[in-house]
Amino acid sequence: MTTVSSNTNNGANLSSSTADLDLRQNGMTAIRPDRNTAYGESTTAKPVSDESQLAMMDAVRTMLLSLGEDPEREGLLKTPKRVAEAMRFLTSGYSQSLDDLVNNAIFDEGHNEMVLVRDINLFSLCEHHMLPFMGRAHVAYIPKQRVVGLSKLARIVEMYSRRLQVQERLTRQVAEAIQEVLDPQGVAVVVEASHMCMSMRGVQKPGSWTVTSAMIGCFQEDSKTREEFLSLVRHQPSLF
Ligand SMILES: [Zn+2]
Repeated sequence: MTTVSSNTNNGANLSSSTADLDLRQNGMTAIRPDRNTAYGESTTAKPVSDESQLAMMDAVRTMLLSLGEDPEREGLLKTPKRVAEAMRFLTSGYSQSLDDLVNNAIFDEGHNEMVLVRDINLFSLCEHHMLPFMGRAHVAYIPKQRVVGLSKLARIVEMYSRRLQVQERLTRQVAEAIQEVLDPQGVAVVVEASHMCMSMRGVQKPGSWTVTSAMIGCFQEDSKTREEFLSLVRHQPSLF
């Protein structure tokens, strides 16, 4: 039996998106240089100190001045603090670790059929513009006995979303994280997202969706398994 759960009840209609599930099925495998490193070192950040919070507030004040605004006017007085706190929250995934997150939630169930959690809402910031991109992730794996609590799949998506990201890397990181903690037969992740840097500026194409996928193990090697996953992702649940 295949386990399918849906994380939302909004019934959003995929067919209205301009990018259909035209997936680069083999385009995103595990082996790609990780742009999350600098000079070969992981840049995974340290928690934000009070000092850097103040520095961030100063930077926001500078931005406001550069925009010709008056940071001292009433509506903007608390803006630097608000922005700094919002940025801290939106990047809080840097201070989380995969180990802490899945701790105590891995079970030896002897379950060997596909587990899919679809429609996991995600909000992230693109690292090129620091503008939001948002959408949904669908995450599946086929266990080798070991399963992880379903909510943890959503938490993994959340952890990697709350960092400065590009959608391709986010997709791959989620897949590799599940591969790492469960060593399953395979992992498949599809992310559909709309980027504010495309909608609000640049080409200004609201309503366009970017679809990325990462397939590992049997999802990459076995086209039947991949097709089953993709058809489950396409199908619109009408449970609610
Ligand atoms: Zn961008």
